[in-house]
Amino acid sequence: MDPKPSAAPTESSAQHVASHYNSRPELGLEKRRESKIIRLRKFNNWVKATLIQRFCRRGFRVLDIGCGKGGDLGKWGMARIGYYVGIDIAAVSIEQAQARYNENRRNKFSAEFHALDCYRNSLQSILPRDFVADIVSMQFCMHYAFATEQTARQMLQNVAQNLRPDGIFIGTTPDANWLVKRLHNSPGLSFGNAIYQVEFENKTDFSLFGHRYRFTLEDAVDDCPEYLVHFPTFERMAAEYGLQLIFQKPFHEYYQSLLGNQDAVNTLYSMGVVTDDGATMSRDEWEAAGLYLAFAFRKIQR
Ligand code: SAM
Repeated sequence: MDPKPSAAPTESSAQHVASHYNSRPELGLEKRRESKIIRLRKFNNWVKATLIQRFCRRGFRVLDIGCGKGGDLGKWGMARIGYYVGIDIAAVSIEQAQARYNENRRNKFSAEFHALDCYRNSLQSILPRDFVADIVSMQFCMHYAFATEQTARQMLQNVAQNLRPDGIFIGTTPDANWLVKRLHNSPGLSFGNAIYQVEFENKTDFSLFGHRYRFTLEDAVDDCPEYLVHFPTFERMAAEYGLQLIFQKPFHEYYQSLLGNQDAVNTLYSMGVVTDDGATMSRDEWEAAGLYLAFAFRKIQR
């Protein structure tokens, strides 16, 4: 990738993203089970669960930015957190997350939910006055912040400002290197397989911010505009906000790196990524999993 700085207008693309997620129906358990990407969903959940297992401790205060419909509430519950704040731009998703939390009486932690564009607003107006997170999580949502440098900086400011020194910032995001490599290996501007499609607008003119592509994932994302996250730029900017990289790994590599970890392997089975009779992701699902990377940062003491 040979990036050059640029900016793009973004207010309308944020509205587009919000209405895209607001209009996505809750699939329900039955439909989820029938989905072509059921094992990919389970694998993505496994990645998130292992990040949480590694970095979260009992009693932690969690800030989940771009929390969606609250799909990670159970994982945070398993980690026995103390407090949870979930924020998302999509108000309908936030209602569903709140409902999901209310329905699970076994939740031992208190929680609050807010609808807010976290890349164009400070979180100070909605967070409890004395709230400081031990861990901030941004799962499959950070790339929307890379529409402009300003929105990426507001996102990082929101992470860093609300995280205690030595606190952890974890996340998952599309891997720009992988996307651009695939683009260069394709004859046209698009590539994909039976479950996902990526379409770029050009092949040569890469920018650090606002480099848009359209993404479709069966049963999950319908032709939504997304932005490349140039990881070296993200890492450099994060350092300006006192966030130091612990690791970043593409999902395939992340999976390989955990095969020696018995807890993580057990979780592959308990979460149904692999069944006892050896069934697992299809070739297409495994390829789609390769689109993403996982990362963790630590907030340094200043
Ligand atoms: N984190 C959840 C998960 O892992 O299941 C949801 C991931 S979903 C793919 C991406 C989420 O990012 C959506 O819920 C979307 O509304 C949210 N999002 C996108 N732009 C946002 C913004 N500017 N502020 C807050 N949330 C945003």
